[in-house]
Amino acid sequence: MRLPAKGDNFAPYSELGVRLGRTYVHERVARTVTAAYAALAALRPETVYVYGETGLAQGGRFEPHRTHRNGLSVDFMVPVLDAQGRSVPLPTAAGNRFGYDLEFDAQARAGELRIDFDAIAAHLLALHAAAAEEGIRIGRVIFDPAYLPRLFAAERGEAVRRRIAFMQRPAWVRHDEHYHVDFELACRPP
Ligand SMILES: [Zn+2]
Repeated sequence: MRLPAKGDNFAPYSELGVRLGRTYVHERVARTVTAAYAALAALRPETVYVYGETGLAQGGRFEPHRTHRNGLSVDFMVPVLDAQGRSVPLPTAAGNRFGYDLEFDAQARAGELRIDFDAIAAHLLALHAAAAEEGIRIGRVIFDPAYLPRLFAAERGEAVRRRIAFMQRPAWVRHDEHYHVDFELACRPP
């Protein structure tokens, strides 16, 4: 099914991407992602989140991604703070390939924007909890290894380090402007 096209505290990376059918996921993943956003709306209502590409309705090859073929992968664009420290949606326009072409530096900044690691930690923990509730789990997360120390130093970052498995080597493209989450349809314990 498609991820919801909007919510109180989240939006898709691109209306066009939604119309082109690039935001389909397995229904249990959709419920997990939506439940996590609902939990975050209560926990940190000031933070806005943007999700990226997931996959096609029928699955299969999904350029330019290497994976995203089975409805279990979701890209989340990094939550960012502006110069005033306010949470703002990542600017996603055709000119920056809907956010995917933004480059963050070693300080996790792009122009006036900086990555909100506290918001990412809260999001990953909310996904972890919502997945367990749904009887699935997070298999692996891909995020720029250079940013992992900042993520683990964030508020609740220690819990993220303990609960979530990250790919340690650099991915085939740099994952600085988004984090990629692979879900697994774990069997519910009897
Ligand atoms: Zn991805």
